[in-house]
Amino acid sequence: MTRRWLFADQLGPHFLDEPGQPVLLVESKAVFRRRVFHRQKAHLVLSALRHRAAELGDQADVVRAETYTQVVGGYPGGLSVCHPTSRAARALVGRLGVEVLGPRGFATSPEDFVAWAGGRRGLKMEDFYRDARRRHGILMDGAEPAGGTWNLDADNREPPPRGAGRLGVEDPPAIVEDAIDHGVREDLDRWQRDDGIEFLGRDGPRLFPATRREALARLRHFVEHRLPSFGPYEDAMLAGDPLMAHSMLSAPINLGLLDPLEVVERAEDAYRSGAAPLNSVEGFVRQIIGWRDFIWHLYWYFEPDYRRSNELGARRHLPKWFAELDADAVQARCLRDVLAGVRDRGWVHHIPRLMVLGNYAMQRGWHPGELADWFHRAFVDGYEWVMTANVVGMSQYADAGRMSTKPYAAGGAYIHRMSDYCGGCPYDPKVRVGADACPYTAGYWSFLKRNEAQLSGNHRMRQPMRGLGRLSDLDALVEQEKARGSRAP
Ligand code: FAD
Ligand code: SF4
Repeated sequence: MTRRWLFADQLGPHFLDEPGQPVLLVESKAVFRRRVFHRQKAHLVLSALRHRAAELGDQADVVRAETYTQVVGGYPGGLSVCHPTSRAARALVGRLGVEVLGPRGFATSPEDFVAWAGGRRGLKMEDFYRDARRRHGILMDGAEPAGGTWNLDADNREPPPRGAGRLGVEDPPAIVEDAIDHGVREDLDRWQRDDGIEFLGRDGPRLFPATRREALARLRHFVEHRLPSFGPYEDAMLAGDPLMAHSMLSAPINLGLLDPLEVVERAEDAYRSGAAPLNSVEGFVRQIIGWRDFIWHLYWYFEPDYRRSNELGARRHLPKWFAELDADAVQARCLRDVLAGVRDRGWVHHIPRLMVLGNYAMQRGWHPGELADWFHRAFVDGYEWVMTANVVGMSQYADAGRMSTKPYAAGGAYIHRMSDYCGGCPYDPKVRVGADACPYTAGYWSFLKRNEAQLSGNHRMRQPMRGLGRLSDLDALVEQEKARGSRAP
């Protein structure tokens, strides 16, 4: 049987054709020279790779090298590989003459996606998701969706419980680091000290699963203790509860330690046994076989230049305080807390990514490609395939509406409604101009003003554009935001 070359995001058993298949694992240091990654992300990836090598024992050839080419070119006996997850890696395996199999680790196959997408004018996640539910028979009662409805989003947009500092769900049990982690930490310290390799963010105890066993334990714990509260509070933020009821499973799924279909099947079992309500289970299934797969397929389906889209002409560089996660430089409580979360954990949940970080960047006209690169490097679950549609499309509207029908731009009122941040902030979400003007509220209106020509043709933006026309203090607001420039708010 051909030896299977496993990339570091192909670590689960489903990337092998049978359990005893010979394996090649390559640990490439050049990856960490090319880009400044979050320290905890570098730790997680190396730890996962080395744990897999230890599990496989003699079954795996494990090679440490600067580049893949040094090892793989002309490998004796030939190699096969599952479709890699980036265009660059796809081109590399082609150049190296390795046999390339179809992708694994996603629910829908490329053929099914292309069959679904072909001939459609607009690609809507909701339509794709319903098709995937039918195709995989997930949460279906015969031909009908379980509970008689496809979409329970209306039940899943609750603000955080009033007055609560925490949601009150059990945190996932802490991961116990082992000798492999200690070795990784020593190596990263040495690379930093002696090899000029730089990292972003702070080191800390490993928070995310690096083995299949740890990943299964996290999944089990989530389904049992956290899934019931996942749905209603999916979009809510609490300063004292950064995890809320989110699964923290993106990193192990993206490392290939869990297969997405096994994940949603566990969630469905919880619904069928009465252990979790339908709105939570449907919301979770939607994230995995809906959003995650949709984003993956768009990466390949859109033209390669899609990631360079910049339809709003946003050209400002990311300021140093943001790029380097200097949360202490920020006064705005929401942004300060979220940036500190990235610095300390390399992870925050979806709404801080979209509505605090992405929203701020879009309001300020930061370059979408630079922002995508930052998300890729700063998040433990960041990969190129996941950045393109999420960051460039969804969060920055840089594709002028191919991903979402209107920009995810919002002022302080949204953050005030969905979090407890504003109470302890020196700014006031209702104030647009003056010393206590909320940078999100002012940033929202100045964003609309700057992009008036581009956005006024969008019927979903008609109401905000009318609001813009009614602002009596617009000139002062625009001046104020110009003066703010790239200073930390
Ligand atoms: P949960 O809220 O528990 O959701 C369950 C799972 O659904 C996640 O584990 C993930 O696998 C999947 N999922 C949900 N939404 C998406 C989505 N839009 N794209 C892909 N998968 C999704 N996700 C990443 O995996 N890596 C990233 O680097 C990443 N960057 C993002 C950047 C921006 C600007 C935005 C708006 C979203 C990004 N996401 C990314 C999607 C999403 O925010 C994360 O998957 C999620 O927050 C991870 O936390 P969790 O595992 O607790 O997710
Ligand atoms: Fe964020 Fe504005 Fe609220 Fe402060 S007032 S926490 S800056 S939204």
